[in-house]
Amino acid sequence: MTFASLGLIEPLLRSLETLGYQTPTPVQAQAIPAVLAGRDLMAAAQTGTGKTAGFALPLLQLLAMEGPKVTANSVRALILVPTRELAEQVHEAVRQYAENLPLSTYAVYGGVSINPQMMKLRKGVDLLVATPGRLLDLFRQNALKFNQLQTLVLDEADRMLDLGFSEELGNIYKALPKKRQTLLFSATFSDAIRTLAGQMLNDPLLIEVSPRNVAANTVKQWVVTVDKKRKPELFIHLLRKGKWKQVLVFAKTRNGVDALVEKLQGLGVNADGIHGDKPQATRQRALDRFKASEVQILVATDVAARGLDIEDLPLVVNFDLPIVAEDYIHRIGRTGRAGATGQAISLVCADEVNLLSAIETLTRQTLPRQMEHDFEPEHRVPDTDASGQVVKKPKKPKKPKTSGGGKRNLGKWVESAEASTPEPSIKPVRKVPVFNTGPRKKKP
Ligand code: AMP
Repeated sequence: MTFASLGLIEPLLRSLETLGYQTPTPVQAQAIPAVLAGRDLMAAAQTGTGKTAGFALPLLQLLAMEGPKVTANSVRALILVPTRELAEQVHEAVRQYAENLPLSTYAVYGGVSINPQMMKLRKGVDLLVATPGRLLDLFRQNALKFNQLQTLVLDEADRMLDLGFSEELGNIYKALPKKRQTLLFSATFSDAIRTLAGQMLNDPLLIEVSPRNVAANTVKQWVVTVDKKRKPELFIHLLRKGKWKQVLVFAKTRNGVDALVEKLQGLGVNADGIHGDKPQATRQRALDRFKASEVQILVATDVAARGLDIEDLPLVVNFDLPIVAEDYIHRIGRTGRAGATGQAISLVCADEVNLLSAIETLTRQTLPRQMEHDFEPEHRVPDTDASGQVVKKPKKPKKPKTSGGGKRNLGKWVESAEASTPEPSIKPVRKVPVFNTGPRKKKP
């Protein structure tokens, strides 16, 4: 499939060529023709799927081909995003796609002076990227009019609601023309998102792109920090303590897979491994046996694990963090599916801090950290957060808190994937809510 076959016009195709985009991603293949045809969209897609181009390309085409010239203080297409960073990022992408089109684009967000933004809006803007709070400020100060608005995009709608923007969204919605095209993108379709969609969308086309790659919020994720050399021991300790019934374990290298399998088998644990060096038939057999619960622990590399289809897996353990942050989402997407609860535990050593930081940036969450009694790392894993920062200055390690009765809890949980997720068997030393989608609570 090519971008041309999706009906995009030549100036956009030229921009894509410059950017080196050759083939449309799945979300683009579905969204572009639908948006060009004037449909509303409700799309489950996250950053990394190519969703920005999925809505921006057809939107720019419609702006270039249809509708009157923009008038003073007006805007013809509006993209709402939850944060300043995203506003900049989306605007930068839009700017590149619109390179060969006679359209004006701009981004407005809070935390910076409003006056230059008001000045810029005087002439009107074809496409505006905005955070909800600043957009409303500008509207209330008559710097913006919506009478020419033809398309509204809600990007990362779930995150906007998480950040407390539902009132702002309601007020913006009231100010918009009733006749318009609306595109809603969200990583998850929670009840709140469905309600929002019910209010804002008109007979939307539903698009769900590789839902397995989406880090479902039914997956409870956390990190156990440990020294590199003690990982096998910690894994065995957690396995026994949690009475884990079935676990998919990811290791970085083929040797790593073999070494862990050997160690487990040596202890009488029913384990098998799959990696790229093994013949396909052997891999398939191991996988089939794992699916049939004849193998308790399957250790795999990312390469071998691509495309694995295992239903209702309760637990994924990252024995090593993936080199490519996106693989983290692939890995943990193997559990917590179809509404079932799941857990994803990552054993992280100091060497892996940058990988952890990349994962937290990609998934926009700071993973809660824990330490296990008697496995506290000598090499402290520096603090990280979802903004991609690694706090360089090492602090003294906190005194570990030991578990109490957690063993029983996790064992019980593993027996029933349907049961509500209990506290993990190890107590957190730093508890950060999972999926709070970013460190900044203040509205942009
Ligand atoms: P997004 O999910 O929109 O944040 O896009 C993720 C990354 O993929 C961005 O760096 C885009 O520039 C890039 N991208 C989007 N679509 C394509 C494509 N069809 N081919 C190659 N790269 C793409």
